[in-house]
This record gives sequence, structure tokens and C-alpha cells, in this order.
Amino acid sequence: MTSAAARTALDLTADLPVPDLEDLYRDLHRHPELSGREHRTAALFAERLKQAGYDTAEGIGGTGVAGVLRGGDGPVVLLRADMDALPVQELTGLPYASGTPGVMHACGHDLHMTWLTGAAEVLAAGRDAWSGTLVVVGQPAEETGGGAAAMVADGLYARVPRPDVLLGQHAAPGPVGLYPHVPGLILSATTDVDIVVHGRGGHGSRPETTVDPVVTAAYIVTRLQTVVSREVAPRESAVLTVGRIEAGTAANIIPSTARISLNLRTQSEAVRDRMVAAIRRIAEGECLAAGCPREPEVTMGGSFPATVNDAETDRRVADVHREVFGEGTVFDPGPAMGSEDFSRLAADGQPYSYWFVTTTPAEIWDAAPGGDDLMARLDALPSNHSPYFAPDLSAVGPGVRTLVAGALSHLVG
Ligand SMILES: [Zn+2]
Ligand SMILES: [Zn+2]
Repeated sequence: MTSAAARTALDLTADLPVPDLEDLYRDLHRHPELSGREHRTAALFAERLKQAGYDTAEGIGGTGVAGVLRGGDGPVVLLRADMDALPVQELTGLPYASGTPGVMHACGHDLHMTWLTGAAEVLAAGRDAWSGTLVVVGQPAEETGGGAAAMVADGLYARVPRPDVLLGQHAAPGPVGLYPHVPGLILSATTDVDIVVHGRGGHGSRPETTVDPVVTAAYIVTRLQTVVSREVAPRESAVLTVGRIEAGTAANIIPSTARISLNLRTQSEAVRDRMVAAIRRIAEGECLAAGCPREPEVTMGGSFPATVNDAETDRRVADVHREVFGEGTVFDPGPAMGSEDFSRLAADGQPYSYWFVTTTPAEIWDAAPGGDDLMARLDALPSNHSPYFAPDLSAVGPGVRTLVAGALSHLVG
């Protein structure tokens, strides 16, 4: 027995204009734009939404685009894709490889935009088959972590109806044709932290007249290693990595400052808050112990929230995906340590579902070492952000279908 939502999704996507969508994908891939500068991508998306009959708003939170299609009584469903590329030099050798040196769609956001454009057009053409309001969002600056928050702060929800439910998806390595869903925590939170230690500089031969910030920074880095091992419960997952330490100009000069940059990955906001408090305490404590003339500056850099699917919403979408694509295509891979800012669009804490669509070409998957060990094979493939990341064109249709099916799981009742 098939649900009405699955039947409608199969009907509406039976004749997808795949060659047109592949052209769009190749065009976006050839013209990648860095975070916050997605002008061309945004204009293309807005134009196609207008042609499909959407009311559109542009320039939200930078280059953000939103489209609204009203289809009578029913819930407001928001579909989101991110638009930005990465500062990566493409090495795929594809005929439609990036034409911009040093910039590449290495995370598949070009595919996300293609999927969302296709889904928006399909749902507009089939608007008699569903009831409710559809909001589609092209979001800037996902990679730098600020895009979703910027759209909300810039009045996204004064221009489009507030959603009852939000849906998003991401391209991921794995043989084309799988739709991993997690009914809870799916992606980790991450935070960058910068610490500036203020000492007192002077001659390397006269340490007694100085407060050496290099030594204090070294103590801070060492003591930070106890945050995960001694302050986070063993049942929690967390990572603290000091990725940069910077001080001084010459061997015989004691510098006046030292800088430390670190990155945290956590799976709950509570653990993150606890780690940030520990970092502040350790930095301040070491500076006090060393007699620094000023307290250290501890500043938060870019951060991403944890992505935690609403179990009921995710199950509803996953059930329709299972009906549309087949029983073995939907499975729970558990949470990943990557991060997303999608959940910030759920500004009132609305339920959302975020899932993956696998995009590795069949011949590359079949040739990957690892045999039956799925994780070993995944480790052997170019991941997102690799200069070799190259989703297969055969993933264009499935990602449109997943979004359409996801929307209809809430718009057909
Ligand atoms: Zn990315
Ligand atoms: Zn991404």
C-alpha cells in the first residue's frame, strides 16, 4: 500500500526535465561563488522561481533568496538549499570544472541548488495536487556559518510566512541511490575560539623584566588537553583541537602577545557551553599565575549549532522516501562530526528534517577498495571539500524527488 504523499511524489516527478536540470548543474558548477558573494547563483535561482510563479524576495541577509507559493489551507513547509562554494582549486578534470581559479563547488551546494530549483518547479507545476504554503530558500554563506542567521536577522520571516516545518538535504559520498536519515542528532556543533595572551615584551637576555606570553600560551595549550579528558563525561563525544599558535618575531626577543586559535566539536549545546567556560577559566587562570599585566582576550569565532532532527518529522519524511525509492535505500548511519547552520532557519524552534543523498558514481563506488565494509569504502572516496569531490549527474533526479517527496509528506494529507 502506498501513501497519497508517495503516489503524488511519483506522479509529479515521473517526467523530470533531467537534461535541463543537468545543464543548470553544470552551469552552477562551472561558476562557483564564495560565501557571501553568491550573486550570479542567487539571480539565476530567483529568475527561475519567478518564471515558475513564485513571489520572490532577494538580497536577504546578503544574497539570500526566498520564494513563496500559496496553495490554500495547510501547513507552511520550507525547503532550503545553500548556494556557496569553497576556496579550493578544483582537480576533478571534469569537462564542466570550475572556471574560477581557486574556487570550487567542493561541497555539492551547486547540486543542492539544482535539486531545489527542480523541486520548486515540479511543485509549482503540480500545485493542484497539494494544499498548504511552500517556501523555498536559497541560503548564502553556509560554509562560513553565518548565512542562515543573517537571513533571519535581516527579516526573512517578515517577507515570507513562518514555516511549520523545515526540510533540507546534503550531498554525501556513497553509491548513488541511498538516503541516510537520522531521527535525532545528525550533525555536531562546532565553535572556533581565539585567545590572546598579553605579556610584557623585552630582551631575551633579561626575562626578569618581562612576562613571557610564549610560556603562558604553552601552559594554556597543555592544560586545554584536560578539558575533554577531565571535564566532559565519557558518554559524550567532543573534540578540542588547537590548530594555530602564533607569537614572536626573533629568537632573542620576548614578544608582548601570543595568540592561540582552537576548534571545538560537540554533540550538544550543554557540552559546548561547559567547554567554553573551561577554556575561559584555564586562559584566565594561567595568565593570573604568570602575572600577565592584562587578562587574556577570549573571543568566539565562527560557530555552527548542532543539527538535531525532530524524530517524528524525520520519520514522516523517511517513510515517504522509503516508499518512493525502495525499502533498502533509507537507513540510519548515526550522527556525524560535520556541521551545518540549516537549523538556525528554525528560528522559533520549529521541527525540521535534514537528510543525506548519496552521489558517488557507480563505477567509482564499485572500484573503491574495502569490499563489503561500507565505512572502509567511504574512507577511500573523495569526501566533501576535497578538490576531487565530483557528484554524479545521475544524482540530479533523485535529489529533486527526495525534496518533492519530503514536501508532500506534509502537504498531502
Ligand atoms: Zn561544506
Ligand atoms: Zn556543504
